[in-house]
Amino acid sequence: ATPMAIMVGTGLGAMNGILFKNASALENATKLTVVVFDKTGTLTVGQPDVVEMVTAPGVSEADLLATAAALEKFSEHPLAHAILKRAGAMPTEVATGFTNVDGQGARASIGPDAVLLGNRKLMQAEGVALDALAAEAARLEGGGRTAVHVARAGRLIGLIAIADAVRPTSKATIVKLQERGVKVAMMTGDNQATADRIGKELGIDIVLAEVLPGQKAAKIKELQDKGNKVGMVGDGINDAPALTQADVGFAIGAGTDVAMESAQVVLMKSDPYDVVGAIELSRATLRKMH
Ligand code: ADP
Ligand code: MG
Repeated sequence: ATPMAIMVGTGLGAMNGILFKNASALENATKLTVVVFDKTGTLTVGQPDVVEMVTAPGVSEADLLATAAALEKFSEHPLAHAILKRAGAMPTEVATGFTNVDGQGARASIGPDAVLLGNRKLMQAEGVALDALAAEAARLEGGGRTAVHVARAGRLIGLIAIADAVRPTSKATIVKLQERGVKVAMMTGDNQATADRIGKELGIDIVLAEVLPGQKAAKIKELQDKGNKVGMVGDGINDAPALTQADVGFAIGAGTDVAMESAQVVLMKSDPYDVVGAIELSRATLRKMH
């Protein structure tokens, strides 16, 4: 495109809260064949809430919540916020030796008890038997909830079901991209069943679940190696390498500074639908060169 067209295009974008950091972002946006969306905080609002608790026999909901909250006090994860919000001012126990297990959960001790909290993978790695609550976990995940597993002294004491509302424009964004001939993928660290349910609800073409934070960029590369031009939309620190790897990285404006620094386009209104606007604007701008 001519420098004039680029200037007009980026100017129009800026007026609509779509910040293109450079001309190549505007040009590359026309060529995208796949757009990958992060789930939490991008397609969903990113303010999860506890919606249900399931306890093992002999364990009260208060016990379960007090145990989980003792650990989550040390975590910055959005799921931790949901659990602490639900615990409110209730007395919790005192955890020591907190360690984050990236993309899986956390561990610590409460008195003599080792405590683990997080996804199924983490429990399995530590040899915690899941059978007693496996059907309940499947039910929760089938409903699109994230089931946070809590184990104490080697025994699964319960599940905390957490829901995060889908953004109101997510569905329309996906439909429009598909109409424009762009495939849509969703990438998340969350479990496969939860991701599949949300993917189905939104009509996502490719669901990439249980992706560890360190693997996100490699997943983008895989799509590129298959001949795709890949857009990535994300908000988190975790998303930064994938935003950099993508042909065009789009950051949600309400997200982390790191995501905004790594992306070439910033969506100031934090509305995923602006990805459609960005692509349409870039197509219109490049058409003007002829
Ligand atoms: P996302 O891609 O949604 O940001 P993460 O990679 O941060 O997901 O986490 C993946 C999964 O690990 C979560 O869905 C959750 O099951 C588990 N997990 C990670 N951190 C925590 C935590 N602090 N509390 C509970 N569960 C956690
Ligand atoms: Mg996110």
